[in-house]
Parts: sequence; structure tokens; C-alpha cells
Amino acid sequence: MPHPVVAEVIAIGDELTSGFRLDTNTQWLSRQLEELGLHVGFHSTVGDDLASIEQVIDVARNRADVIVATGGLGPTADDLTRHGIKNVANVELQPDLNILQHIEKMFASRGREMPSNNRIQAMFPAGAIIVPNPEGTAPGIEFRFSRNPAEGHCTMFALPGVPAEMKQMWQQSVEPRLRQSFDLKLTTHHHLLHCFGTGESAIETMLSNMIERGRDPLVGITASAATISLRLSTKAESVEACQLKMEATLVEIKQTLGDLVYGENGQQLEDAVVQKQRAKNQTVYIVDDGLHGEVARRLSMADPDRTIFAGGTIGHQNQSIEERLKPFLPLDQQTMLVGIGPIDRHEETVKAGESYFDVAVYSLHDFARHNLRYSGHSSWREERAVKDVLNLIRLHD
Ligand code: AMP
Ligand code: MG
Repeated sequence: MPHPVVAEVIAIGDELTSGFRLDTNTQWLSRQLEELGLHVGFHSTVGDDLASIEQVIDVARNRADVIVATGGLGPTADDLTRHGIKNVANVELQPDLNILQHIEKMFASRGREMPSNNRIQAMFPAGAIIVPNPEGTAPGIEFRFSRNPAEGHCTMFALPGVPAEMKQMWQQSVEPRLRQSFDLKLTTHHHLLHCFGTGESAIETMLSNMIERGRDPLVGITASAATISLRLSTKAESVEACQLKMEATLVEIKQTLGDLVYGENGQQLEDAVVQKQRAKNQTVYIVDDGLHGEVARRLSMADPDRTIFAGGTIGHQNQSIEERLKPFLPLDQQTMLVGIGPIDRHEETVKAGESYFDVAVYSLHDFARHNLRYSGHSSWREERAVKDVLNLIRLHD
């Protein structure tokens, strides 16, 4: 396999390093770069400080083939990306008269005169190629760095931080340039499998050595609020070729994990419930005295034309689940009834710092009663309980 083209994303701005703004540009750019077939080896985030920006660019040009930076291209004293490039490359900033005119026109079209600060946005490190910015004032900068020690080169694209401008410039200029400059025959493709019902270590154990690094397709595990996601990744000449390469691994994982796998590529547990109930032609009615209607809300969102979610009640009753469900019985074949309630407070086993829920799932042929008990951080007990209830509905006959 040819050596992958290594990319580094640099996000520039005090609002990022101080935590005031989430760096969504890096996430977006990384997805694009990976899809194009480059390997994103590094993310760097740096504040609006010239020495720090120089340091980050200097490190990046010596370890990456491509740098994509965002931010710091504005007209004010804290916009220092162009100065950073100039200093690392040891060249001068030169004006570009066409761009100067373009910026003046942008201001004129808004009925304003261009402040003199904006002149800096028409200054480029000598040797740079200008990346047009159709919607904004600040063009981007493409710059080719030599490397230390002199071996090959690294191409940097500096784009504005404003996400909409950055995305447009990526699509119109940077992506075509990368396709042209590198022989990008391979695309990267990911496929997600979502599991619920056991922990990530247990899943790793079940999959024996499938999580090994260096495997192709590569299989990674992430856990988020008790949902375990397996991410399969591979590179090939097309998305279809990638899918073909993944097929055997997907089948093997699904066979090994069985019912633990509930969905793919972003599906939620409620989507799986709706899918399964549609296949059974059975609606779901929820009587919720414990989870504030959250199970019903998710089912309703996942079923916009209301073919499956038949409705429900939310309340805080002092009745047991059986009492609460009695008025809905007997059931017909087309209905599943779910009751969620707090466990009887007088029970001796109730411990402080724990949350308990009593769940009943009824259908004509099957009746199941579950006691759910949660310790751990209070902020995720209910989230966990909601998912557990959805999972019980999914697995109920
Ligand atoms: P700048 O190009 O540095 O003047 O940034 C312009 C605006 O774009 C900032 O005020 C932020 O609101 C936004 N921005 C800059 N960098 C990022 C980033 N990495 N992710 C998301 N938004 C950003
Ligand atoms: Mg900034």
C-alpha cells in the first residue's frame, strides 16, 4: 500500500484555547481530509500569539505533507496567521492589488468605506497562492514550505475561521488542489455498528483480536452513555470497494454479538424499536410514572408519521405498575404496553444514592417485569434508564 499523505489541522484563536468556543472546524476538516484519502495525523490548537503560531506551523511543516489551518486571517491585530507563515518561511509580506480592489468593492457594495486595517488582508507571504473567498473579505493562503532537513515539502492552506466561508473555500479550492497535487486514488470509508446491553470491555473480549491496530478494516470501539459503537474503517478506490472489503468483518461481528447489535451508522435505540415494531405491525403505548415521558418522546421523534407510537401518559402516581396498567388490559395482538414506575418506597432493599425503576412490558403473548437499579453518577442514571427501557422493548417478543 502506498504511504498515506499525512495531514495536520491547525485551529487558531484565543476563543478556542480558552474554551469559549468549540473548535468545530477541526472536526469538519478532518472528516473531509479522511474522506479524500489523506491520513490526519495531528490536530493542533493555538491561541492568537505570534510566537506560538510560528512554533506550531514550524513543527507541522516538518511532520505533515499538508497543513490546513483555520482562523487568524481577519484584519485586526490579533489575526496573525499570515505573519506566522511569513516568519517561518522567512519571506516578506507583499500586497496583491487585485485582492485589495476586491476587498474595497466588498465594502463599497455594503455602502461602507474600507477601514485601513483591512489592507493587511491583501498582503501575502511572497510565493503564496491566493485562495479566493467569494463570500467574505479575507482570502485564504496556500503556501509551500520546504522542510528541515531539506527533504520534500509541505503545503499549507490557511483558511478563515468563519465556518461557512471555510467550508465554501474548502470545496471550491482546497479539495480540487489536493486532488490535483496528490495522487489520491483511495477514499476512506467508515461503517458504524451500535451495540447496547453490555460494556465495551466485554464486547472487546467477545471480538477477541478484532480490535488489533494495523488490521484492515480497522475496528475501533467507543462508548457513549452505555451505547457501544464499533467503527470499521478502510481505504479503497471507491465507497463501494470499501463496503466490499468490510463485508466479511461486518458479518462476523454481527454473528458474534447477535442481539447486542441494534443499529448502524447513527441509528438510535428508538429507531431500532420503531423498525422492529413495524415489522411486527404492533404499536406501543407507554404509561410513564418514572422517566418524565422521555421514552415516549424518543419513540415519537423516531416515528414521525405515528404508525408505531400510539401515545402514552406521564404522571407520578402512588399506584403500583399493575394498578396503573389494569385499565389498558386485556391487550389485542396489535398493541404492546409499557409501564415505567418508581419502585415501592417501603421496600427494605432501597439504598441511598441509588435509583430504582420498575418496568413492565406486556404484549398478548409475553409479559416481562424488570427491576432496574442504578448507582453511579446521578446525571446519567436517567439517560441509562431510558435506554434500558427502549432496549427491553426492542428485545421483547
Ligand atoms: P477568525 O477567522 O479567527 O477571525 O474567526 C472568525 C470567527 O469564526 C470566530 O469568531 C469564531 O466565531 C469562528 N471560528 C474560528 N475558528 C473556529 C473553529 N476552529 N471552529 C469553529 N468556529 C471557529
Ligand atoms: Mg481569530
